[in-house]
This record gives sequence, structure tokens and C-alpha cells, in this order.
Amino acid sequence: MIELKTPAEIERMHVTGRFVAEVLSEVGRLAEVGVNLLDLEDHARSMLKRRGAESCYWDYAPSFGNGPFRNVICLSVNDAVLHGLPHDYTLRDGDVLSADIAVSIDGWVADSARTVIVGTPADEDVRLIRATEEALEAAIETARPGNRLGDISAAISAVAADYGYPVNDEFGGHGLGRTMHEGPHVSNKGKAGRGLTLRPGLTLALEPWFARTTDRIVYDPDGWTIRSADGSRTAHSEHTVAITEDGPLVLTRRESELSA
Ligand code: MG
Ligand code: MG
Repeated sequence: MIELKTPAEIERMHVTGRFVAEVLSEVGRLAEVGVNLLDLEDHARSMLKRRGAESCYWDYAPSFGNGPFRNVICLSVNDAVLHGLPHDYTLRDGDVLSADIAVSIDGWVADSARTVIVGTPADEDVRLIRATEEALEAAIETARPGNRLGDISAAISAVAADYGYPVNDEFGGHGLGRTMHEGPHVSNKGKAGRGLTLRPGLTLALEPWFARTTDRIVYDPDGWTIRSADGSRTAHSEHTVAITEDGPLVLTRRESELSA
């Protein structure tokens, strides 16, 4: 189902979005060599509790996972890119960590993800992360009334092509608002000028993610963690965006991005 939101409803999603941005800023700050993924989960959990925010992941039980998810954040390291189950793992120098979180405050959802490098960055990892961030900004730029859904997908795949990264289209962006996943699906691969016409009030989670050398994925035995099929490193950038009369409004911007 696709539900157009009123400006007042978008403002409520923005309240949630600001909090999601704070959590991801904090996770990025804490992600240092020697820190365990379970500590990051605990920290996120206490932030949600203090804020009275409800996790959209807790008890999430889609067809692919093994039983309900019992964490508030997805943490995916190196070749893992999506739905990473927080587990007993201590971050090492040079690890690439993707953190993804969706919460609901007073019934309104926001969803965002970022990838950071722990310790010493490798040039090829910096480049990969930059590609997903640029793809996300290109997608946001096209999220305007009158454009088509395919324009967003095409903008993402064009950046990937520039960098020479293949694109998987099994998992992509989505509508959201009252729940974490609403219509429409937003593929990271597509043709400009095709698909739904974008209208004010449409709220979308846009989320390019790339693996360096493959568009194929494999699942861990836990049924959650998704990795690149060839073990190459991955990155993921996501924002919740509202399409307004005045253009795209990013609801999950982090302070560090605003000052960049
Ligand atoms: Mg997400
Ligand atoms: Mg999402």
C-alpha cells in the first residue's frame, strides 16, 4: 500500500528521523578497534529505551529470517552488508561496519543506515563507501514531484556504473511511515522515466548498497545476515526522504553531514 503523508505527518516522521540520526552518529563514534558488536547493540538499546522509541526490528519475522529478530540494530561487518545479526565479535583494525536502524516514535517510523571504517581505512573501502553515499545523494536529488520511481533507481545504478560496482536488485528501498515497510519497492537498478510518478507526501527509504565485485548474495545459517557471494567488501547508505512540493526533505540527516 502507498500512503501519501500530510506535512504534519512528515514532521512527525522527522522527529523520529532526528533520533535515528543521533543513534547512528553515536554508533559511528563508538565503533572503534576492540569494541564488541554486542556493546553497540546494548548502547543502541539503551538510547531507544531512554527516548521511548520502539524498535521496528524487535520480533520482526519475515519469510527469510530464522525466527523473530531480537535486536534493535543490524550490524554487518566487511562482506556482510544487510540484516547483520549483532553477535559476539570484537571489531578489528580496518573492519568495515554497516549499521542500520529503524524505529518508531509515537507511531511514526524512520529508517537509516551508514557504513564506517574502524581504525585504519583502506583506500578501496573509502571508495566503496563514497560510492554508496554519492548514489544516495543522487537518489535524493531525483526524489521530486513529477519525477518517476525509475529515475531514482537509475540515479543509483548510474553512480554504481561510474565506479564500476555491480548492483543487486533483490533488496532495495521502500515506502515507510506507519510501518517500516510500505509500498512502493525502490529498486537500486532501473530505467529513468519508468514507474510510479512521485508526488508530494510520498515517504521513501532510499538505500543503495554495493559489493565491490559481485551482485550476488548469500545468507548466513542464521537466516539473517546477508553477505556478498564472493566475500568482497560491501557498503550501505540509507536515508528516509519525504517528497514535498519544495523537493526532497531528508528526515534522517546526521549533524556531521549537515556541517560537511
Ligand atoms: Mg534500514
Ligand atoms: Mg530500509
